[in-house]
Amino acid sequence: MALDILTFGEALVEVMRTDVDQPLDQPALFTGPYPSGAPFIFAVQAARLGAQVGTVGAVGQDAFGKCLLDQLKTDKVDTRGIHVLPDYTTGVAFVGYKGDGSREFVFHARHAAAGQLSPQMLDKELFKGLKCLHIMGSTLSLHQQALDLGLRALELAQDVGAKISFDPNLRRQLMSPDRARYAFAPFMEAADVLMPSEEELLLLGDAYHVEAVVQDLLEDKPELVVVVTKGAEGCVVMTQSDEYSIPGIGPMVTVDPINTYDVTEVDPTGAGDCFDAGFLTRWLAGDSPSDAAQFANACGALAVTAKGPMAGARTLAEVQAFMRDNKPKEDPEYEP
Ligand code: ATP
Ligand code: MG
Repeated sequence: MALDILTFGEALVEVMRTDVDQPLDQPALFTGPYPSGAPFIFAVQAARLGAQVGTVGAVGQDAFGKCLLDQLKTDKVDTRGIHVLPDYTTGVAFVGYKGDGSREFVFHARHAAAGQLSPQMLDKELFKGLKCLHIMGSTLSLHQQALDLGLRALELAQDVGAKISFDPNLRRQLMSPDRARYAFAPFMEAADVLMPSEEELLLLGDAYHVEAVVQDLLEDKPELVVVVTKGAEGCVVMTQSDEYSIPGIGPMVTVDPINTYDVTEVDPTGAGDCFDAGFLTRWLAGDSPSDAAQFANACGALAVTAKGPMAGARTLAEVQAFMRDNKPKEDPEYEP
């Protein structure tokens, strides 16, 4: 069956501290393994919303790999693209939580199965009839072979006319902003949908102002949809205005701030991934960018209410019920 969405990247399990302020350089209790990895959180969320989703990645021939594969199978994510590597162990992210809300990580990824991504892992079969390829910058930042895999996937997706979605998900510990500007350029240019944070857009763009960066991008791609995520403030949808194009200046940008929902944040892991999945599934189903973004806000808000990377990824019926029972916060605050 043709896939709606294909994604690829680091297959991980997460092992996290049971309590706040337990630094990772000292003995204390952990809980886990929980299936994880940004592209896999995304895939599970999209599948729970009803999309046909496929993933490409690698796990070891061990219990942690089985933990992730079992979860993907439970959620009916297509795992044909997952390679089981007998010579490597499954990637692990150890996570500690600090009292100020920030997180501390130790990754076993580069030398794990997750670090063995390469263009040879792509099977053309997965691209037949594909509607959309979703790419995450965090995956492209892992190593050169992962970037090459991304470039090859982009080529194969464009060959079949699939839409391209790109979330820069810049992780400074993996790649410097300077290098990312260069490495991510082909994906920024090819994208039909971009889902950066404000900071990422400014780091990757050629202007000092979010709207100016988007205006630049729209000149080359008038159909582009940019959705800027803003954490607890929701998101802002930016598209080309049908009304104005100033001669000598270029296309004007329509800016639509979309408020999110008031929730109690328990664990921020996965909010961006669930948001991306919510936006793409609705947008591919024909919703307007603003409607898709409202739905995505609900997915992102729900994601932070549960501990565990995939625990906050709800089903379509659950997200719809949440949107029925809760109104978004009032008074969009948008300060250009
Ligand atoms: P990451 O890449 O670390 O997952 P991100 O910067 O891509 O994070 P955020 O902006 O933190 O993603 O979150 C994505 C979306 O999730 C937001 O646009 C918003 O819709 C929702 N969201 C996140 N945090 C909250 C919160 N505390 N309350 C309500 N909604 C939230
Ligand atoms: Mg992100």
